[in-house]
Amino acid sequence: MDKPEVLLAVPLMKDFMDSLHEKYRVYSWYEIEDQEKLLQEAGHRIRAIATGGHAGAERSLMERLPNLELMACFGVGVDAVDISYTRSRNIQVTNTPDVLNDDVANLAIGLLLASSRALVESDKFVRRGDWLKGTMPLQKGIRGKKTGILGLGRIGKDIAGKLEVFGCDLCYHGRNEQPDVDYPYYPNPVDMARDCEYLIVICPASKDTYRIVDEKVLDALGPQGTLINIARGSVVDEPAMVAALKEGRLGAAALDVFADEPNVPEELFAMPNVVLAPHVGSAVTDTRKAMGEVVLKNLELFFSGQPLATPFND
Ligand code: NAP
Repeated sequence: MDKPEVLLAVPLMKDFMDSLHEKYRVYSWYEIEDQEKLLQEAGHRIRAIATGGHAGAERSLMERLPNLELMACFGVGVDAVDISYTRSRNIQVTNTPDVLNDDVANLAIGLLLASSRALVESDKFVRRGDWLKGTMPLQKGIRGKKTGILGLGRIGKDIAGKLEVFGCDLCYHGRNEQPDVDYPYYPNPVDMARDCEYLIVICPASKDTYRIVDEKVLDALGPQGTLINIARGSVVDEPAMVAALKEGRLGAAALDVFADEPNVPEELFAMPNVVLAPHVGSAVTDTRKAMGEVVLKNLELFFSGQPLATPFND
């Protein structure tokens, strides 16, 4: 029997692509020289796209696939997918939630501690031989410190559970107060930031969360405050953040995500109170493998006409 056909929009991890090739006839879109020819010959047969949530697929490509029914995304954030378009055509979208919570939360906590204890600067201090001349300045602790989580969803709750062990005084902001959660709820992110020393951002990127961390939030967090962004670059007003850090209106930042990745504002490079990571929240071998398995499961369920494992519907 012919294998079902899948268009792979962007290269993903090798093990995942190997499994995909075993099970499906795969069109690796990014490698195809004559894309027009492919669309004319096979476009009408392609019912599924596999892609990264960070990459989605161009609307112009989807428009050329008249029988497209599924966009199976590798990753939990699907902000690169034109959801209003997929909805208008009843194209189902899946993502890979939950399997990455633990590692993304671990990175958030790693960034928080790296920032509060100046770990990157400590490393440089030792390597430079500065320890021979004196000791590192004292740093900040996190026990008892008011810590706000902007986006208390699957990953946000994992972060919160872990931070309870560290003794942080937690609170959260989201669109809705959650009845089963005991942490104090703030309907407004500015009010939350004003009360917090640490602000961890882990909400989805959307038109509603675009620059939700704006100058007002940054000023409310203030010179003693630390911003940890592990969500998406677009949720923070990046120029306002750089200016606030430069002018000392914001104390520190620890960032895994940026507005125009992989470009990072160069002004941040020289700031000792900034910790940078190259969007590696889920970049752990076992976790990436588990994410690939979720994508493969969704494809398998789709091609056997069964309900999808992890449909995205927000
Ligand atoms: P989730 O379970 O859907 O949780 C999202 C949370 O954000 C919910 O608590 C939701 O609460 C809140 N939220 C949604 N819209 C909001 C708005 N307009 N204003 C304020 N809060 C809002 O998602 P998740 O699995 O935790 O993932 C969250 C995001 O993390 C992903 O979308 C992705 O962008 C990012 N992420 C980053 C990495 C990385 O490598 N750095 C890895 C994985 C995920 P309400 O519904 O009450 O508003």
